[in-house]
Amino acid sequence: MNDIVGIVFDLQRGALHDGPGVRTVVFLKGCPLRCAWCHNPESQAFAPETGRSGKTYGWATTVEEVMAVVRRDARYYAESGGGLTVSGGEPTAQYMFCAALLAAAKAENIHTCLDTCGALDWPRLDALRPDVDVFLYDYKATDPARHRALTGIEPDLPFANLARLLEAGASVRLRCPLVPGMNDDAEHLGAIAELGRRWPKLAIELMPYHEAGEAKYGDLGRPRPELSTHVPGPAEIAAWLDSLHGAGAPQAALG
Ligand code: SF4
Repeated sequence: MNDIVGIVFDLQRGALHDGPGVRTVVFLKGCPLRCAWCHNPESQAFAPETGRSGKTYGWATTVEEVMAVVRRDARYYAESGGGLTVSGGEPTAQYMFCAALLAAAKAENIHTCLDTCGALDWPRLDALRPDVDVFLYDYKATDPARHRALTGIEPDLPFANLARLLEAGASVRLRCPLVPGMNDDAEHLGAIAELGRRWPKLAIELMPYHEAGEAKYGDLGRPRPELSTHVPGPAEIAAWLDSLHGAGAPQAALG
């Protein structure tokens, strides 16, 4: 299994924002979604790409080669409660590589997070559960038409899989990108609060819109989707949090 080849586009050691503790985050290339606000356009295509600058986005590597890097920080994981996070793109889109990487880490008692949009058949997601300590699960929009318009996919599968994970007792951090004027509507915030009320152990992380990554669209020769939005300020973010806390989801916090 450790000789399975995947395409990775970034590998970050010492990361602090993608799961608990100090982590190594492995970003797998390829994503079936096209979120309007995507900050990592180089993550979307499955094959390696070369930008106009000459920079290469993505390389082929094996599970063992990745694990050789992941192991280097084992001491920091132990001290901080950290470990490996497999992210993307959508990491489950390279299913065999993603599954083998999670299993390899678990075999070495390394804590694992899977950062996913949940857009895969339930049996395949369910099969990953034994090797995932925490799911970092995207929740992008509640209204189906808005979800389709903002991400390019129907929400049915991600929503159903989220419910199945929670009912199965999985540890989940709900990650909610909030883009002013696009998905910070009362219906969506209300649905996030409802999830928080129903599942008190569900962590909820708000991910306010930011503009990092814009230059990568230019380097890849792709137009950045036109967004009628703005970078939210502290007052706007505080209002989102107040609304969630007031609606019975005290666990909501900034991601
Ligand atoms: S799921 Fe993530 S990587 Fe894929 S398009 Fe959306 S923001 Fe980009």
